[in-house]
Amino acid sequence: LDGDESGFSPEELDLEKKLRPASFDDFAGQDKVLDNLRVFVAAAKGRGEALDHVLLHGPPGLGKTTLANIIANELGVGIKITSGPVLDKPGDLAGLLTNLEENDVLFIDEIHRLSPIVEEYLYSAMEDYKIDIMIETGPNARSVQIGLNPFTLVGATTRSGLLTSPLRARFGINSRLEYYSTELLSNIVERSAIILNVPMSADASVEIARRSRGTPRIANALLRRVRDFAQVKGNGSIDVEIAQYGLNALDVDEHGLDDMDNKILTSIIDKFRGGPVGLNTLATAVSEQADTLEEVYEPYLIKEGYLVRTPRGRMTTDKAYKHLGRKRPADQRG
Ligand code: ADP
Repeated sequence: LDGDESGFSPEELDLEKKLRPASFDDFAGQDKVLDNLRVFVAAAKGRGEALDHVLLHGPPGLGKTTLANIIANELGVGIKITSGPVLDKPGDLAGLLTNLEENDVLFIDEIHRLSPIVEEYLYSAMEDYKIDIMIETGPNARSVQIGLNPFTLVGATTRSGLLTSPLRARFGINSRLEYYSTELLSNIVERSAIILNVPMSADASVEIARRSRGTPRIANALLRRVRDFAQVKGNGSIDVEIAQYGLNALDVDEHGLDDMDNKILTSIIDKFRGGPVGLNTLATAVSEQADTLEEVYEPYLIKEGYLVRTPRGRMTTDKAYKHLGRKRPADQRG
């Protein structure tokens, strides 16, 4: 998870690139975020200035990287792409920054994972387009200031809670991406099917969409797998039967919940009698980090009504019991 694509083969990454929308008009959903970005991009472009720094947050696979690329395209500037864990030395960052052309975009994925020293360097770069670098070593060591071209930092994070406040404060534009509706996802799947040149019925696209956990990346990945089933087990085109067959064979939950989602719900029910259970206790029970639970898994479970957050902790709802085929203890109310 965490937006990590390293599990994909080179062919898959290639496909993923092909399916990636390249303009605001191709990007489905997130209307509020897009409406604002369109205005800010047009204004910056009109003035010939760099766009203000943009922070994009939200669960993995919702389009943060895609949007960063679109912003650069729409501004008509170049983009350099890196990520928090990769930038472990200030020199790496300095190298990237000094190579940016005027008004370029620098995209830093997983920006919450920057090392504190690198983050410190970023502050003056973001604020004044300047960095201090150390030259020479030993007794001759001294720091010199270099000016940078104006640029836009686009930062992406799945864990906005882990961002330090000085860093957060340096972003003029701060947008949260939301999970997609089934309808939007089915539009995305239809667009992807056209790009992949595979015929698909409308009800098949809805079937794939509704099992995609509100996430375009998952929807596209399921489409590619279902396409394989259609090719090998069917006649090459995707109808709702082949879609269901493929999705069942892939063990995709009827409601699009993934293994961790189900593990969370099962633990609350089996180990904590449906809750309330505190975040940290729950995290230990499912062997996952508390902030990953809170920022990656819970939002979807809450949005879909499987889980509620109460002042005393997390509780499963009737829908969760029904989903897992469990009976709620008689002494509990829903
Ligand atoms: P993130 O950076 O948030 O993890 P990505 O930008 O990598 O997510 O998106 C994953 C994939 O989902 C992209 O390759 C793209 O094909 C698809 N995608 C994401 N958002 C949209 C959208 N709004 N419309 C169409 N496709 C999208």
